[in-house]
Amino acid sequence: MTYKKGFATLAVHAGETPDKITGASSPNLVMSSTYVTDPDVSFSAEDFGENTPYIYTRWGNPTITQLEQKLAELEGAEAAIAFASGMAASTGLLLQFLKPGDHLVMSDVSYAGVAEFAKDYLPARGIEVSRVDLSQPENLRQALRPTTRLVYAETPANPILKLTDIAAVAAIAHAAGARLIVDSTFATPVATRPLELGADFVVHSLTKYIGGHGDAIGGAVLGKVADLAVLRKEVGIHLGGIISPFNAWLIMRGLATLPLRMRAHEENALSVARWLEDHPRVARVIYPGLASHPQAELARRQMKNFSGMISFQVKGAGEILARTFAERLEVIHYAVSLGHHRSLIFYLATQDMLRTSFTLTSAQEATYREFAGDGIFRFSVGLEDAADLIRDLEVALA
Ligand SMILES: *Cc1c(COP(=O)(O)O)cnc(C)c1O
Repeated sequence: MTYKKGFATLAVHAGETPDKITGASSPNLVMSSTYVTDPDVSFSAEDFGENTPYIYTRWGNPTITQLEQKLAELEGAEAAIAFASGMAASTGLLLQFLKPGDHLVMSDVSYAGVAEFAKDYLPARGIEVSRVDLSQPENLRQALRPTTRLVYAETPANPILKLTDIAAVAAIAHAAGARLIVDSTFATPVATRPLELGADFVVHSLTKYIGGHGDAIGGAVLGKVADLAVLRKEVGIHLGGIISPFNAWLIMRGLATLPLRMRAHEENALSVARWLEDHPRVARVIYPGLASHPQAELARRQMKNFSGMISFQVKGAGEILARTFAERLEVIHYAVSLGHHRSLIFYLATQDMLRTSFTLTSAQEATYREFAGDGIFRFSVGLEDAADLIRDLEVALA
C-alpha cells in the first residue's frame, strides 16, 4: 500500500537511496563529466529521453538527478531541472516559451536581475513586456492581450515583500490562454506550493533558503514533464547553463533541513520584526507575519510559514544609517543575498531601484514608495539567537 510521506521525511529522503554497491547511506557526489557508454547509445539531444543512460553531465548526472527529484517531490511537481543559478533558471524559461511578437506580463516589482532582463534584453528581441502590479489581480485582466503567453509573478516580492494571490492570478491568466510562472524563492515549498494553487511553473534561486548556507549558487524550474523535457533539451543541453554536481550536492544537503530551518527563520524574524516595530528610529516594518502587513489576510491564507525576510524603513537618511550598520554590526553581515543561516542586511535606495531595475508608472511608483519610502533595509534573518540579533541592531541604531 502506498501512503503519502510527510514533508520533513521527503526533505530528508526524497531522491536519495543508499548506494547499491557500497551501501553508503549518504548520497555519493558524482563529479564525472562523462560516462562509459554502450556504442549503440545516440549522442544527440534529439534522441534524449526519460530512459537515456548517463552519457555526459551536461545532459544529466546522478547527483544533479537526486537534487531534481528531491525538489520535485517537495514542490509537488511532476519534474524539476536544476540550473547554474536562479537567473539561469528564470531567463532560460522565459527565452524558451516566448518568441518575437509574444507578450509577457511581469510583476512591477521583482528580483532586480529578472526585472532588468525584462526591461532591456527581451524587448530588444521583439518580446513585449508589461510591468503590472499583480498584488491587485484585476490589474492583470486589464493588461492581457491576445498575444500574452506568460505571466511572471514573484511572491513575496523582493525587496518589499508585496504578495500576489497565486490562485486568483492563475485563474485570470488561464482564462486568457496564458501560463503562470511563480518565483517562490522567498516562500520556499515549506510556505507555499504554487503549482497546487494553479501556477504552471515554479522557479527558485537555490542559492537562498533551499541551499540555505551561502556556499553554493543554483536555480531550478519545476513544472510538467512535457514542458520540462523541452526545457532540458533546449535550455539545459543546448544553452548549457547546468549546475555543478558539487553545488547540487551541497544544495541537496542543505535542503534536507529546510523544514526545520524555515521554522527557526520564521520564529527569529517574528521576534526581530516585533522589536523593530517598537523602535523609535524605525518608521515602518514589513513582514508577512505581522498584522500590520497590508496583505496580512492573504499571507495567512497563502503562506504556511512567513519565512525570514523583513524589510524596514527608518526615520531620516537610510544611506547614512547603512554605513553605520556596515561598521557597527557584529553578528549580522552587511551583504546582499538572503536565506542563509547567517543573518544578512542590505540597504536598497528607492531612487537606485527605480533608475536601474524597475520601470514604474507614477501610480506604481506611489505603491512602491508606500512599502519602501526613500529606501528600505532588507533583512534576511538568520538562525542565530534572536537576542543577539536584537542586541546587534540595538547598538547600531543607538
Ligand atoms: C537571488 C534571487 C534570484 C536570482 O538567483 P541567483 O541564484 O542569484 O541567480 C531570483 N529571484 C529571487 C527572488 C532572488 O532572491
